[in-house]
Amino acid sequence: MPSTKLTEGLNAAQAEAVLHVDGPLLILAGPGSGKTRVVTHRIAHLLEQGVPAHAILALTFTNKAAEEMRRRVGTLAPGQRVWLSTFHRFGAKLLRKYGDYVGLSPNFTIYDAGDARKTLKRVIEAQRLQTGGYTADRIGHAISDAKNKLITADKFKATSGRPISHVVAEAYPAYQRKLIESDAVDFDDLLLHVAQMLHDNPELRRELDRQFRYVLVDEYQDTNRAQYVILRALSVDYPNLAATGDPDQSIYGWRGADIKNILEFERDYPNVKVVRLEQNYRSTGLILQAADELIAHNTQRKQKRLFTEKGPGAPVRLAVYGDQDKEASGIARQIREAIDSGERRASDFAIFYRINALSRSIERALREARVPFQMVRGQEFFQRKEIKDVLAYCQLAANPRDDVAFERTVNTPARGIGKKTIDALAEHAYRTGSPMLEAARHADATGLPARTAKKVQAFVEIIDDVTRAVTGSVEELLGVVLDRTDYLEKLKATGDEEDQNRIENIQELLTDARQFDEQSDEGGLEEYLERAWLVNETDNWENDADKVTMMTLHAAKGLEFPVAYIVALEDGILPHERSLQDPNQLEEERRLAFVGITRAMQNLQLSYVARRDYRGQRRIAIPSSFLMEMPRGQMDVVREEVEVQLDTWDADPWDAEELEEWRQEPPPAPAKRLPVDIAGLMTTAAALADDSAEKALPRVSPEVFRQGMVVVH
Ligand code: ATP
Ligand code: MG
Repeated sequence: MPSTKLTEGLNAAQAEAVLHVDGPLLILAGPGSGKTRVVTHRIAHLLEQGVPAHAILALTFTNKAAEEMRRRVGTLAPGQRVWLSTFHRFGAKLLRKYGDYVGLSPNFTIYDAGDARKTLKRVIEAQRLQTGGYTADRIGHAISDAKNKLITADKFKATSGRPISHVVAEAYPAYQRKLIESDAVDFDDLLLHVAQMLHDNPELRRELDRQFRYVLVDEYQDTNRAQYVILRALSVDYPNLAATGDPDQSIYGWRGADIKNILEFERDYPNVKVVRLEQNYRSTGLILQAADELIAHNTQRKQKRLFTEKGPGAPVRLAVYGDQDKEASGIARQIREAIDSGERRASDFAIFYRINALSRSIERALREARVPFQMVRGQEFFQRKEIKDVLAYCQLAANPRDDVAFERTVNTPARGIGKKTIDALAEHAYRTGSPMLEAARHADATGLPARTAKKVQAFVEIIDDVTRAVTGSVEELLGVVLDRTDYLEKLKATGDEEDQNRIENIQELLTDARQFDEQSDEGGLEEYLERAWLVNETDNWENDADKVTMMTLHAAKGLEFPVAYIVALEDGILPHERSLQDPNQLEEERRLAFVGITRAMQNLQLSYVARRDYRGQRRIAIPSSFLMEMPRGQMDVVREEVEVQLDTWDADPWDAEELEEWRQEPPPAPAKRLPVDIAGLMTTAAALADDSAEKALPRVSPEVFRQGMVVVH
């Protein structure tokens, strides 16, 4: 019997997806069509049908999305505890239980990117590997890439054409061995180990397939190979996998996301029921049209239909500013006015940018205009030195094989244990095949001077004390760490302002730990550390605060705001310069712009500037080629007075006669010359020339074309 409560207010296609129970289901639909809404209603419906909560697994990409889903399922089906989590946390949970299949204990440590890199560096040093001039970062990326593609250390083969692959062929297995010896995993391992474990152990695979009878995935287009294999393995005997996604919103190619996973779903699951949702409930017509025309320029896509009943709404604004400060203050002013007039609240607005570095001028302008805002920036808190220091003590207590935590803590705060001593301990550990903490325990046997050995011994005692406190609450445990290390006192003593901030951060950590202790029923240090290391970019975003949201386009996925701004639509920024040579990457950048545009419900402003200070350089900014792909005729093009005179000359650069004239009588000596990307400028200018060149492009002198320079007075 179809449930009326759960399908109330849904359209026919949405209801069909919600009421589907057994067999694979693919919900393929554009932005704002209710995919996420369908997933939550479907979970509630499964519960209503008598499916036990523990048989349902819903996977998301961010903790925020998981939390939001939990909240919504909570209102639809109160009191039920469905397994809702991110892929990485799901991986971590499985490995805590079944880690011995891949050589991990239940207490294994999760290394964040920094710790993983340190481990890799240590391995390269200790084993004197030839790096061929590649940095640890480059090598680390290549390893991560391989892991995301499920190429394990023993399978990785050097390819003759790629010099770095020869380095990776040595470093990867050594790094992986070290991780296992340290009873640690990096982020990629959380997926790789699980995929491998499911692949190598048919019994276990069957058991988990049976346990997670109904698997739901939102944003399926962003799954990578490892995630794909995990999902596949969990839906063989019980192929009740429901995936929702939009290939046009696939923006994690750089993290190994494979758009083919969604495009080929129908081949993988031949009996799949495909539901298409075509009504967009989020945005007004002109916003949708801009998005639609832009994405139509991608070649690797399936055509989709999307309509709205909201009417055309306000035209999209295309704003041109003189420089980034004017862009920032222009936006801040608009927001201020809308709030003052009572027309909008601060939380109605979002400002999106391609990379975090672009946020600085906007922050400043919002602050000056006294507009409350929140900047969504992941990991920051738990990445801070003092936080990592304190948590590393806990980490080492939980996992005595964690050498990264050992090295971080052994002389922090300073206790007179120098690099030479640490190297000697590392050497001893390497020779005896034991963890560094173990080597430290036998410091007197390592040939260290007696005085040094004593200091090392004192450190080991601290760790032993901390270890004894591991079973208590996290807040108490942190108390023991701070107490035994005098960490706070040492910071207080310096009187340095930076250190005073650190003290506040540690106090914040204690508060966080207290809240965790109160809220979590299972609790425990591992759970806490897992939460700390697996934070996502969007985790610190408060959706009920009355503040303007500032975030990267990547973080914006799945969200919606009445008014959205996308800044810096400029060549080299959006699309990012890395993508300019590669058609695939360029398509991904276009999808990223598409995601940004489709977050807007009622108003959207796109902007670019005439010149921008970026990466320590002042450059003449070239409008993004994406702007040429949108219906500019229907946009409201607003051009703030561009005060930066690119040149005193203002003739038409395409007019040969005028060009000649200019040559006869060049402008006065320039104050400053800036390099400019001529090819980009030419293409953009040519594209614009057919209609609104006047509106969209700052006047550029022929000197640009002659010398590859632009003159700024
Ligand atoms: P995205 O691709 O951006 O993640 P989505 O397809 O997941 O979008 P949702 O976030 O689920 O879309 O829905 C977009 C908006 O439309 C939400 O505000 C949602 O509440 C609303 N919505 C969805 N379906 C309906 C409906 N049948 N009636 C009214 N509003 C709806
Ligand atoms: Mg969604």
